[in-house]
Amino acid sequence: MGKMRRETMAIHFGYQTDPTTKSAVVPIYQTVAYEFDSAEHGAALFNLEAEGFRYTRINNPTTAVLERRVAALEGGVGALCVSSGQAALHFSVLNLTAQGDNLVSVPQLYGTSHTLFAHVLPKFGIEVRFAQSDQPAAIEKLIDGQTKLVFCESVGNPAGNICDVEALANVAHRHGVPLIVDNTVATPILLRPFEYGADVVIHSLTKFMGGHGTTMGGVVVDGGRFPWQDYGARFSMFTQPDPSYHNLVYIDRYGAAAYIERCRSVYQRTMGSVLPPLSSFLLLQGIETVSLRIDRHVENARKVAEFLRADARVDWVNYVGFPESPYHALAQKYLGGRACSLLTFGVRGGFAGGTRFYNALGLIKRLVNLGDARSLACHPASTTHRQMLPAELELAGVKPEMIRLSIGIEHVDDIIEDLDQALAAAVAVADPVALHACAQPACSGIEP
Ligand code: PLP
Repeated sequence: MGKMRRETMAIHFGYQTDPTTKSAVVPIYQTVAYEFDSAEHGAALFNLEAEGFRYTRINNPTTAVLERRVAALEGGVGALCVSSGQAALHFSVLNLTAQGDNLVSVPQLYGTSHTLFAHVLPKFGIEVRFAQSDQPAAIEKLIDGQTKLVFCESVGNPAGNICDVEALANVAHRHGVPLIVDNTVATPILLRPFEYGADVVIHSLTKFMGGHGTTMGGVVVDGGRFPWQDYGARFSMFTQPDPSYHNLVYIDRYGAAAYIERCRSVYQRTMGSVLPPLSSFLLLQGIETVSLRIDRHVENARKVAEFLRADARVDWVNYVGFPESPYHALAQKYLGGRACSLLTFGVRGGFAGGTRFYNALGLIKRLVNLGDARSLACHPASTTHRQMLPAELELAGVKPEMIRLSIGIEHVDDIIEDLDQALAAAVAVADPVALHACAQPACSGIEP
């Protein structure tokens, strides 16, 4: 079909019309296993000598199309789909680390990613070092001989910071380690981290990629360019025989795709975080329209940000599309000036004002998701980032009164009308009801 552009890839890449049924759309292969032609065929599949499918925990034809499609959209050499974004993050890190190793991360992270790093991985002897900021120098200070990777979210959730991916990749490479980028908020429509030197990209497909708030999913994508063999002692898992897989040497068998195929053969096979074929199908439907949706998300968010900035009932707006944003220049470089549709703001009246605003929302849904066709609002300090301590919240860019909006693709006037009436409710009366479930230390003691 020749070289495709992203809009075309999102609809066609990785699927050739099924020869048996001539199905034009990717079929849902709702099967656990696949018949072998013979004992020799089965053995060849298990030896990874023959191409084909064995068992859906390892690979599945519907999911394989999704993997090829996302890999192509990101410009990678291969991908592994898993059951959620969290599973993608977990596997991407496990594939490089063992007890006694460490990784260095920016502090602006999705709350549960922070919890995995701060509380879960250390239980398994993997230390996570959080830098004091997303600046490359702050990251570099923490790298040592046991560091196995550097991690960032290209656009932080909910901080909205934009990481200088190229500079972070340079820092990581100077120390012989790869850069893993969570590209969930940006999507490959706005930013392709491999073009700036990233080595592995992960996504929560649950968000903009699926785009309709119906389906959980995650993916790890391998950029295929990190020279594992140049650092054979540090990354011997790719260059030495693997006793857990009859002494396979991943770099010899898979070359540039060694990272992702080891992730499949070791972690997906043994820990089993499977994306159901029906979910792969639904995510493929979403991806077909992702570039159109992102256009509308971005445009609507710009108009909403301008509306909020001009409104006296709003204290502050954090939106990288504004020239005064400290991330404006990076938004030009990495997002082509198309700021994402995630923005945060504070209502006049602080935490209590924010509570009244939040409770008055009508069209905009109160929930913890982002990247849905619907506009969504969340209060990170009491929900997604609730486990974090005040100092961690500050580093992560989460203020107690902060409302995070994920602007959907409805008519923008309807979104703005809803915001307008909720702002009116926020400043109308001194409502004694606080955001009731907020036991966060950061939320206490804040007066209207
Ligand atoms: N990464 C980011 C940036 C997220 O915002 C989220 C969820 O909100 C995740 C990862 C986790 O994804 P999932 O909910 O699919 O596990």
